[in-house]
Amino acid sequence: MIKYFMPILEIKLVPDPILRKRAAPLEMVTEEIKSILNDMAETMYDAPGIGLAANQVGILKRLIVMDCSKEEEDPNLIKMINPEIVYSSEEKEELEEGCLSIPDHKSIVIRPSKVTVKFLTVDCKTETLEAEGLLAACVQHEIDHLNGVLFVDHISRLKRDIILRKVKKQIRENDK
Ligand code: ZN
Repeated sequence: MIKYFMPILEIKLVPDPILRKRAAPLEMVTEEIKSILNDMAETMYDAPGIGLAANQVGILKRLIVMDCSKEEEDPNLIKMINPEIVYSSEEKEELEEGCLSIPDHKSIVIRPSKVTVKFLTVDCKTETLEAEGLLAACVQHEIDHLNGVLFVDHISRLKRDIILRKVKKQIRENDK
């Protein structure tokens, strides 16, 4: 019997320098890329989280996975290759965000309330997604990761420093 199992990838935490790097666009959608996306999805569901960018698992490629469906809804896994925001609304929205790379800390972030994202699917087709609400915030958060930007960069320096200091301390204590 063949036993399939999808590996759970290690999620990089701040201050890992890979979280501050810009991920490179992909020229081809290979089997390897599809398999990375599957592993990323598995890792996101296991965490659990609603989005994950490749930087967060140590891969500098422009890949993200998301599932912003509510508990009572069917899962809605979205995989994006080379996602790019082609429209952002003037109107802004405040939403509380967290991040698997900054465990246990949340903060209100203000972002455009609607965005349109162009991306490649695993079948190498160009698609666009019009997002609002939680999905809009999530896709902007994940695309930020591909540019080395974290949600704490959108809040005050004071709050950011407090959160990052606390996380560093937590990680140090967990390592003991
Ligand atoms: Zn994040």
